[in-house]
Amino acid sequence: MKKEVWPWKTIIEPFKIKAVEPLGFTTRQEREHLLEQAHYNLFNIKAEKVLIDMLTDSGTGAMSCEQWAGIMKGDESYAGARSYYNFEMAVKDLTGLEEIIPVHQGRAAEKILFTALGAKGKYVISNSHFDTTRANVEASGAIAMDFPQEGALDFDKPAPFKGNADVKAMEKFIKEKGEKNVVMCVMTVTNNSLGGQPVSMENLREVKKLCDKYAIPLFIDCARFAENAYFIKLREKGYSDTPVEEIAKEMFEMADGAMMSSKKDALVNIGGFLAMNDKTLSLKCRQLLILTEGFNTYGGLAGRDLEAIAIGLKEVLDENYLQYRIRSSQYLGEALLKKGIPIVNPPGGHGVYINAKKFLPHIKPTQFPGQALACALYLEGGIRTVEIGTLMFGKRDSKGSFLPAPMELVRMAMPRRVYTQSHIDYVIEVIYSLAKNKKKIKGLSIVEAPLVLSHFTAKLKPL
Ligand SMILES: *Cc1c(COP(=O)(O)O)cnc(C)c1O
Repeated sequence: MKKEVWPWKTIIEPFKIKAVEPLGFTTRQEREHLLEQAHYNLFNIKAEKVLIDMLTDSGTGAMSCEQWAGIMKGDESYAGARSYYNFEMAVKDLTGLEEIIPVHQGRAAEKILFTALGAKGKYVISNSHFDTTRANVEASGAIAMDFPQEGALDFDKPAPFKGNADVKAMEKFIKEKGEKNVVMCVMTVTNNSLGGQPVSMENLREVKKLCDKYAIPLFIDCARFAENAYFIKLREKGYSDTPVEEIAKEMFEMADGAMMSSKKDALVNIGGFLAMNDKTLSLKCRQLLILTEGFNTYGGLAGRDLEAIAIGLKEVLDENYLQYRIRSSQYLGEALLKKGIPIVNPPGGHGVYINAKKFLPHIKPTQFPGQALACALYLEGGIRTVEIGTLMFGKRDSKGSFLPAPMELVRMAMPRRVYTQSHIDYVIEVIYSLAKNKKKIKGLSIVEAPLVLSHFTAKLKPL
């Protein structure tokens, strides 16, 4: 049966609210002081001092009443818990994969997978590795190579599937290095590092064909599989009448394996999985699982977590939910574009990324325009966002000074089912106000910054 398309202009939140949590109101004077105390690093601000928290969409979503009921019913048996079998069935049903391994979050799946592969000195290719994925590939001694489609870094120019891989460049690379030296292809859907942009079914199919030609296993990093599937429904020819669940399953038909951070599209606060068909590889993974995560039927999670994931994986495919979800980012993005505020266009699935380099041209990349904008947003309206630029990705010279990163973005991530339209209207008003006085925003300089993952703990001061 064909589903009726929502005939109204106003897209509404497809839920009513059963439990509420107060927001953290502060005065501007307090925020000035808090910023100083936090050394202009928003990771050091207490969450209760944040009004609208757009730091991340990871693990910050609201669970449904069904999921909370599942939490109560969770089976906490050490081995063979009922909740594990519910979880396994949900993952199998979605992915069609055979071996299902629960883990406590996405990076645990990555650590186990790449350790088990043991491909020291060999290559893993991808549309774009997420930062923890890259870190775990590299920790195993392998080399992570990104092949985003041409134009993915042209933030102003909209395109429907900017998350796609450049298949030609991938093939050229495989031929150059020899197929024996390329041990895996990872497709990240949606493409988190490049603005939450989707990957088309056509591109997935081409990548699969390429992988089959050279016998390279294709894994999907599926943290945001449902958002990606919904984008395919909206934007790709031939899919407008296909239920999102079918689209998602078609995506997974291409996969020899998958890894998921359930903190995203499984609508839970913690969890993840690793799934594959290769029995030999899965045996190695299970050995590592028992070493560092836990037994096969819980993998670092409580039974109640597994139960909530099983429910969330189904709920996330509700098209009323997805319509609201994708519309929320679009709504914020359109409002910013209307006032000429430069963003990664079109907005991605899980948030809007402001192009701080273009928004604050008076601040040099070495003076952290993204971080300066993130701090200004907090000062102006208690909104917490995250810099994706020189502080997060900048390489360091021999003296430890930061070298400019290729982009200076501020990510405004949307937690799932947490904020309503009036919250977003407020965010828009704050940004408009900031835009009027943007020349007053000053750059920052480093007080101290460790050499690895410095953005979490760096201390800065205004120039
Ligand atoms: C969040 C994320 C991960 C890592 O998952 P964690 O649960 O944070 O460990 C991996 N890949 C992608 C695409 C992600 O968004």
